Amino acid sequence: MDILFSFMAFLFLSLFILGLLEPKYVIWTKNKKRLKVLKYYGSLFLIFFLTSTYIFPLGGEIQKIPVKDFNVSSLLLSLKDKIKKDTPVLSEDVHVSEDYSGKLRVHFIDVGQADSILIENNGETMLIDAGNNSDSKLLLSYLRKNNIKKLNYVVGTHPHEDHIGSLDTVINNFKIGNVLLPNIIHTTKTYRDVISAIKNKNIKVTKPKIGNTFKVGDSTCVILAPRDKKYHNLNDYSIVIKVIFGNTSYIFTGDSEKDSEEEMVRNRISLKSNVLKVGHHGSRSSTSDAFLNEVSPQYAVISCGRKNDYKHPHRETVEKLRLKGIPLYRTDESGTIISTSDGNSIEFNVSPGSYNYPK
Ligand SMILES: [Zn+2]
Repeated sequence: MDILFSFMAFLFLSLFILGLLEPKYVIWTKNKKRLKVLKYYGSLFLIFFLTSTYIFPLGGEIQKIPVKDFNVSSLLLSLKDKIKKDTPVLSEDVHVSEDYSGKLRVHFIDVGQADSILIENNGETMLIDAGNNSDSKLLLSYLRKNNIKKLNYVVGTHPHEDHIGSLDTVINNFKIGNVLLPNIIHTTKTYRDVISAIKNKNIKVTKPKIGNTFKVGDSTCVILAPRDKKYHNLNDYSIVIKVIFGNTSYIFTGDSEKDSEEEMVRNRISLKSNVLKVGHHGSRSSTSDAFLNEVSPQYAVISCGRKNDYKHPHRETVEKLRLKGIPLYRTDESGTIISTSDGNSIEFNVSPGSYNYPK
């Protein structure tokens, strides 16, 4: 729908410019004055421009890019063509998914120094990230053990190995509904393997857009980041999703850092969530004060490896959570963590972990 309005805006902009140059071609009144052009075509352009920019992109259908555009050899060219202007700031605010049944189960799978999160409700599933390349066996057996046959949504938050490492194996071994990847190309073999797996299965890739929503069972998932722009840091391309189930919500941040966090804070979609999957394995480069205050979580979860090379989680992050009295669950201490929501309250299968950090 926004295409129609964009076209009308373009049409009136053209008439506006033409009218300013030669008013006689576009004004059908006796006095062919530039002032009228300014008034008529200027306001028509503004109306359609604002409609196409601010009204119709809201809650729009998820945009799909055919897999052929992700052909690695032509990636750069074809994706460049697909890059649209920045998504505007949204006024829509989603708090509650009203009709819901069953329980929402969120598995923070212990994949060491990496992320992999399985979300289930009423037979529908989403997998956010798939650990390192070396986690493929572990991940396959975990998903099979949990009787997963199909993943309705598979999200590769951003192209680092600790997030998309085993995504190719997952895609090859399960029925896959939708694959969401950010609009950034990476040159690694790991990334190419993922793209090949997607191509071989003839799946379409969805490029997320801020404000897009989709359902996993009765939960409503809202895309909060990234914006369709260039970032300095690959981590800031992370797809951030808020999952709302009844009166409860979770926010999954990938490795997004301060730049993206700042944008999310400025955006008018509420970040407030009961559970925060802490960004970038608890690194000090994420979880800025403003972002943490906006999310204002009741619980925090960090996915990181025991004695990892990056010394995650960092003192700064852990201290922020401790000072706010937010219980912290961590895969390096508890292994796989399962959180369950009945739509009103949230439970964890383990006790909170410590506020310790590697020195
Ligand atoms: Zn990571």
